[in-house]
Amino acid sequence: MNQAIDLLKHHRLKKTPVRIQILEEFLKADRALSKSDIENAFDKLDRITLYRTLKSFEEKGLIHKAVDGSDKIKFALCHNGCTVHEHLDSHAHFHCNDCGKTFCMDDISAPEVKAPKGFTLGKTHLVLAGKCDTC
Ligand SMILES: [Zn+2]
Ligand SMILES: [Zn+2]
Ligand SMILES: [Zn+2]
Repeated sequence: MNQAIDLLKHHRLKKTPVRIQILEEFLKADRALSKSDIENAFDKLDRITLYRTLKSFEEKGLIHKAVDGSDKIKFALCHNGCTVHEHLDSHAHFHCNDCGKTFCMDDISAPEVKAPKGFTLGKTHLVLAGKCDTC
């Protein structure tokens, strides 16, 4: 019935009211959310609680960082069966220059690149920028 509760259960996270509410914000949003986006949805939300909640969500494979080239750290819901062991999201993120929103481009993958000699590659981020479909 409640998708947020199901997701917490599935990722073995305790069902606290704050977690449920933060997760519901992600489920409602069709885009990546910054900390201030989430804070704005609450009457009162302790920053430490928010920080810890996002961290545990990321660790357990519920959300991932949506790197968009802006100075804001944003997170988006994972869709690819990510787990505590591994994040499988390698899709691009689209940053709208007009409204500042960031979207997951689930169908566009970051290209495989070969690191130059002596360099070790961690994660590749593909950032797209332009105008979103509502601007
Ligand atoms: Zn993920
Ligand atoms: Zn836009
Ligand atoms: Zn994403």
